[in-house]
Amino acid sequence: MAVIRDRTPHFSTSVPVVVIGAGAAGALAALAARDVGAKVLVLDRDASPTGATAYSSGMIPAAGTQAQKAREVDDSPERFAGDIQSKSNGRSAPHLVEVYTRNAAEALNWLEGACGVSFEFVEGLPPGHSAPRMHSLPERGGTALLSALYRALAARGVRMQPSAQVTDLYVDGHDRVLGVRYQRGEREWVDVGCSVLILATNGFAGNVDLVARHLPDVRALPFAGHAGSQGDALGWGEDLGAAVEDIDGFQAHSSVVMPQRLQLPWALMTEGAIQVNRLGERFGNEHEGYSESALFVLAQPEGIAFNIYDERIHEVGLAMPNYPEAVTKGLIKRGATLRDLAETLGIDRSGLEQTIALVNALAFEDDMDDFGRSFHASQMLLGPYYGVQVTGALLGTEGGLAIDAGGRVLRADGSALPNVLAAGGAARGLSGDAGGGYLEGNGLLAAVVGGYLAGRSAAELAY
Ligand SMILES: Cc1cc2nc3c(=O)[nH]c(=O)nc-3n(C[C@H](O)[C@H](O)[C@H](O)COP(=O)(O)OP(=O)(O)OC[C@H]3O[C@@H](n4cnc5c(N)ncnc54)[C@H](O)[C@@H]3O)c2cc1C
Repeated sequence: MAVIRDRTPHFSTSVPVVVIGAGAAGALAALAARDVGAKVLVLDRDASPTGATAYSSGMIPAAGTQAQKAREVDDSPERFAGDIQSKSNGRSAPHLVEVYTRNAAEALNWLEGACGVSFEFVEGLPPGHSAPRMHSLPERGGTALLSALYRALAARGVRMQPSAQVTDLYVDGHDRVLGVRYQRGEREWVDVGCSVLILATNGFAGNVDLVARHLPDVRALPFAGHAGSQGDALGWGEDLGAAVEDIDGFQAHSSVVMPQRLQLPWALMTEGAIQVNRLGERFGNEHEGYSESALFVLAQPEGIAFNIYDERIHEVGLAMPNYPEAVTKGLIKRGATLRDLAETLGIDRSGLEQTIALVNALAFEDDMDDFGRSFHASQMLLGPYYGVQVTGALLGTEGGLAIDAGGRVLRADGSALPNVLAAGGAARGLSGDAGGGYLEGNGLLAAVVGGYLAGRSAAELAY
């Protein structure tokens, strides 16, 4: 990966807007730029692009959509922004929080109206949000979202080139990108000229060296994201003199089944599930936040934990993304009694029995435990019991290239690079500079709305 300044090839092909990365950020950027009339080429390293987007729940938060208004939900962009800042202790980039929350409804309404991507309103209060505001395709899941975006790209004649790993950027003496070089197949290199470049290559969570350098505290977490998150945008941006912000921010999850990389729905916890270690002991407040809790799981014997719940919660899980897959794959275990479940999962039986007795006593009294979690009588855990072995895992990074409200990449002095934009995980996110700052939906919000805004800006800059 390099920025080449001393050699500009003759570009036999030039496209006004080149987008690197075909996840949600790249797809949205391409659709938005095309919508304003620009010709766009999307390049992705994978033969069958999925990005981290396909691994996500596909739920996008937005305040003020038609669907949300139809349910008379009391919400606003300001309230949404307040929730994001509250989760990060006020450390999220204010200009990005403001512009993403203000434009989220517009971006989704535009996707529906102009691109034929229809969303459903998802009932229920996601953790950390003060109003229901998630939107998803009826099929649910990130794969469905990405497929719908690819259909829209195809319908608009946007060319997508898979198996195209961009290695180098050609740049002039004023940091203007003139074109890119990508590798196709084993030994073919292709040069394409452009007047604007959008970096949508996600962050660096899949790059062991960069994680060790920038996020030493989480380097021991297994990686459950997309292998393409190698920090390519970060490397090119730094070579171009771009500033990097919130580098300590990350998105992790405390309920991931490995090696299947299946992230289990957090709703299991909010419905009353508990997490215990091999000794059958709880070790924290399961409602604290799944990103920061990943490190608590890692600190347990063998770095693993077990989610324990009952039939009622199992039924809730069946309607959520990823859970049915975990059931089909035989990862969810059932026991008529706690003894059976403890035996199947390899947990200390008496430890588990004591823990369940304690949480049920707390629930009976509608009381709070020493970790600060409140229990409710309606959520007592009653047999038959269910359980699954999980671990904490790193899903993505939240730090990235500094950008302005339109997605233009900024230098340390605040000036914008002439023609480079970034969106989604390639850019600084919304979670501030620590793992605890990640609010559910921040990833897709930055990818979808950030991509939408960057695409529009790119079309204005393109010639
Ligand atoms: C398991 C998991 C679950 C998640 N769940 C949620 C969730 O429920 N809600 C939420 O909001 N967020 C969630 N996230 C985060 C969310 O998925 C990401 O923040 C978001 O999808 C990032 O989108 P993106 O377009 O920036 O990156 P991606 O979707 O990763 O797309 C980047 C693309 O760039 C390509 N690429 C990289 N380098 C190059 C190169 N040099 N040349 C060409 N192509 C390149 C990659 O192949 C990839 O296709 C989850 C993430 C993971 C891993």
